[in-house]
Amino acid sequence: MKSNLGYFALAALIIFTACNQSRPTAVDEDGLATLSADSIRLHVSRLAHDSLLGRKPFTAGETKTIAYLQSQFKEAGLEPGNGDSYLQEVPMVNIQTYADPQMRVSSPKGGFSLKGFADYVIWTDKITDKVSLNNDELVFAGYGVVAPEHNWNDYAGLDVKGKVVLVMVNDPGFAAGDTTLFKGKTMTYYGRWTYKFEEAARQGAKGCLIVHTTEGASYPFSVVQNNWNASKLRLDDRSKAKPYTDINGWVSLPAAKRLVAAAGMDSTSFFAQADKRGFKGSSLNLRLSTNMKVETTFNKSFNVIGKITGSKRPDEVIVYTSHWDHLGVGTADETADSIYNGAFDNASGTASLIELARAFKSLKTQPERTVIMLAVTAEEQGLWGSAYYAQNPVYPAANTVANINIDGLNPFETTRDIVTVGEGQSELEDYLKTEAEKAGRVLAFETHPEAGYYYRSDHFNFAKVGVPALYTSRGVNVIGKEEGYGEKTAAEYREKHYHRPSDEYDPATWTFAGGLDDLKLLFLVGKRLAFETTMPKWKEGSEFKAIREKE
Ligand SMILES: [Zn+2]
Repeated sequence: MKSNLGYFALAALIIFTACNQSRPTAVDEDGLATLSADSIRLHVSRLAHDSLLGRKPFTAGETKTIAYLQSQFKEAGLEPGNGDSYLQEVPMVNIQTYADPQMRVSSPKGGFSLKGFADYVIWTDKITDKVSLNNDELVFAGYGVVAPEHNWNDYAGLDVKGKVVLVMVNDPGFAAGDTTLFKGKTMTYYGRWTYKFEEAARQGAKGCLIVHTTEGASYPFSVVQNNWNASKLRLDDRSKAKPYTDINGWVSLPAAKRLVAAAGMDSTSFFAQADKRGFKGSSLNLRLSTNMKVETTFNKSFNVIGKITGSKRPDEVIVYTSHWDHLGVGTADETADSIYNGAFDNASGTASLIELARAFKSLKTQPERTVIMLAVTAEEQGLWGSAYYAQNPVYPAANTVANINIDGLNPFETTRDIVTVGEGQSELEDYLKTEAEKAGRVLAFETHPEAGYYYRSDHFNFAKVGVPALYTSRGVNVIGKEEGYGEKTAAEYREKHYHRPSDEYDPATWTFAGGLDDLKLLFLVGKRLAFETTMPKWKEGSEFKAIREKE
């Protein structure tokens, strides 16, 4: 939405009037009556307002957003969640890279150069001023996966210390189309590019290059190219001894084939060998050289955290999360609007936290376990606020019963279904199913599990430290509409409004009727957890099960 003073004055008036109608109600037997679509609408209209400038970390928009959330958490009756503070500081670093325009490849038979941007894209996650490859050996490590629960180790018997590994995107199950291998077409954590870099660093590699394929990544090489000499935000974790490779990146498929050919092999059979159980990685007998200058800038942002202390088991916590941040002010669209309001993504989820707080506070019997509302920062830049919380938890992961994450609440009509992202991950799915059925609704699953959405929002950082995490998205079976209507509107949002200035609150059409129904279910799941003594578990085959059991 464009800045317009007249509009702002009007909006302020509406906000002021509406405000008086959405006070927390008195005691509410089951909490459900407290949840209100009008109240969600009110908070979304404020959080997605132009005056918050697209809620980008480190801007005046952040200052206003976190002030608003603190005051709302307080008004809803939440106690400060981090000692006597509602804030958790998140130290971050911005890393700007300046890579040389080419990479020299030498082989026993001679050498050639690959072109930066066209053939490959590299960057560093290291806090330093310069990184280089100096005739470093290139080793093929299949999918670069170590997955004990699938009895798979691409690094077995392979020495990659100080070397550059070449790995493939996605996982062996995806490529082979074999449902008995990993999860078949459904992407696992091992298929994500972030995992490849983390594993390569754990193995002591100096660099990690992923072979890009459009099917495997689910996006074209042009998306990867956006990373070329771009600036990237990540956590400032200098105080931790976390391993990092010097250089990470992608090579295009044609460039990867050139590398394999230079090693004297046929690329088709060469890459296919990695899909087979018992695959062994090997050196390509090629050496790489290139340089990169690095500029770092340090800054800090904030997570906002409030709680309701449990009456009987205060040390056991249930954490609701939503990212408060969005993209700020950027490139203008065709209507000359440059403010990325992020009304759906994720003013709607953030507003939900305020509503959930009011609902839990209104309960006649206070929760026996502690309930946390955590609005996290810097999701859009790489899930950093939740990563920081997971690595520096205010409440230990072992005592964290569950995470329920909301990233986009349905602004429109009610749906019969609610979609669980990440089918079969944890028992929280069964909790949701029970509540959905009691409400006369049904549980549905993702239509494109190969896109790996379970690994793309904040709950993923809880999963990585073993906390069972529930993430849903809006249903597609819209009540009172023809078949296909739900898919059509969802596709429309992705094409026209996702990460664009037009993701705006529309008071005329955004009823949140569907969102209210979904929020009720998420509230009921959390409420059940807040009164019971059991700890929900990861299901068999989940890549996070072993992490939880180690605790
Ligand atoms: Zn989001």
